[in-house]
Amino acid sequence: MRTKIVAGNWKMNKTLPEAVALIEALKNNIQPDKTVEVIIAPAYVNLPKAVELLQDFPIAVSAQNMHFADHGAYTGEISADMLKAIGVDTVILGHSERRAYFNETDDVLQKKAQKAYEKNMTNIFCVGEQLEDRTKGRHFEVVKNQLSKALFDLPLQAYKKIVIAYEPVWAIGTGQTASPEQAQEMHRFIRETLAQKYGRDLANHVRILYGGSVKPANASEIFSQPDVDGGLIGGASLNAEDFNAIVTAAKS
Ligand code: PEP
Repeated sequence: MRTKIVAGNWKMNKTLPEAVALIEALKNNIQPDKTVEVIIAPAYVNLPKAVELLQDFPIAVSAQNMHFADHGAYTGEISADMLKAIGVDTVILGHSERRAYFNETDDVLQKKAQKAYEKNMTNIFCVGEQLEDRTKGRHFEVVKNQLSKALFDLPLQAYKKIVIAYEPVWAIGTGQTASPEQAQEMHRFIRETLAQKYGRDLANHVRILYGGSVKPANASEIFSQPDVDGGLIGGASLNAEDFNAIVTAAKS
């Protein structure tokens, strides 16, 4: 059985005092449970405080991005070692906003995924098609390409620390969710693609999260699909009650 994951991507939201307030509210709301892993991804500047506040509480802290180099002349960037030094060993890579607004190509993401593996970090790796890809019927091809270009030169053991997040771009922040059937169909396809490359056993163990306008009202139905192992949550993760309701929906 795969333990579900609910991860909150806070994006560029919350000042330090606001982040502290949200974390305190989460600690008051969320009932930890062995059947679901909970992760939050605040902005870089709020990570040390998040780690401190969650030291004895079962919510893990993730970064939203990192650079592939160990150090050097990359103004404004953050390395894996910098994250690890403050106690953060999970990172979201390949979010569609990084791909769209910061030109993160499959090539760059391949290097970042390689670095996450080298540094033994959990990599929540995002894939997902644009609306036009779906209307033209090429969504499977697009997702397969994103997976294979960034992840398929990694060895089998790297997948112990890889979580895939399927996030159709047309569903992110739009209020338009993939139907449970659309999510299941793509998650099954991703699992089959992993099985073809690495074997059935590995494919059965990798967690595949759905992301795209998950809310308390639709979480249960999406999470009940057999190949959906939880969610990557944007907007609804900024509200403690909503995020808690989504975590509760993932409990089994
Ligand atoms: C996201 O950006 O990862 C996301 C899923 O956002 P939202 O839940 O707001 O659609």
